[in-house]
Amino acid sequence: MRRINEIFYSLQGEGFHTGTPAVFLRFSGCNLRCPFCDTKHEQGTPMTDAEIVAYISTFPAEWIILTGGEPSLWIDADFIHTLHVGTGMKIAIETNGTNPLPADIDWVTLSPKGGLTTPQTASIASRLRLQRADEIKVVDCGQDLEPYFHLPQAGSNTRFYLQPCWHPDPEQAQKAERRTIDRVLADPRWTLSIQLHRKLGIE
Ligand code: SF4
Repeated sequence: MRRINEIFYSLQGEGFHTGTPAVFLRFSGCNLRCPFCDTKHEQGTPMTDAEIVAYISTFPAEWIILTGGEPSLWIDADFIHTLHVGTGMKIAIETNGTNPLPADIDWVTLSPKGGLTTPQTASIASRLRLQRADEIKVVDCGQDLEPYFHLPQAGSNTRFYLQPCWHPDPEQAQKAERRTIDRVLADPRWTLSIQLHRKLGIE
């Protein structure tokens, strides 16, 4: 049994696969407690692998996105194999990077939490356990951005996405977006990621 918060079909709203239809498999729980966490992931229903595969297979997607919470707490190589074989879909994961991953995941998005230079966040960086990241997606909180390019998970093909910090107040949100746009323009190693699903008002 795995504890599932929700399974839903939507468009990926962030990063490299923005706009791509995908089935989101949201696991419950996380090993970090970020003060800015706005993901409602703690509730969960136990599901068997067969139930998960059967439900995901009802959607016409090419991709499954494993998310959370922290999905790495709930998966292993057998589960990834079962998902691949049972659904025929490709598998992406969005992870905070603090746990190793099974090797045959098709797309790994590493989203390290906070900056990497304060004593607290430097310790998060030292806890990263991933072998590789196809994409490093960073929420722009005004932190020093250079350390992300020097993470051991950043290879020559890794894409870097910078995302404005979400804010419920439209004026603050607009300011945050402007800051991120300016930072991307100043350093083209970044690509802008906006949370398209929030802009469109979809899940
Ligand atoms: S890693 Fe993500 S899900 Fe976990 S507490 Fe931080 S923001 Fe929330």
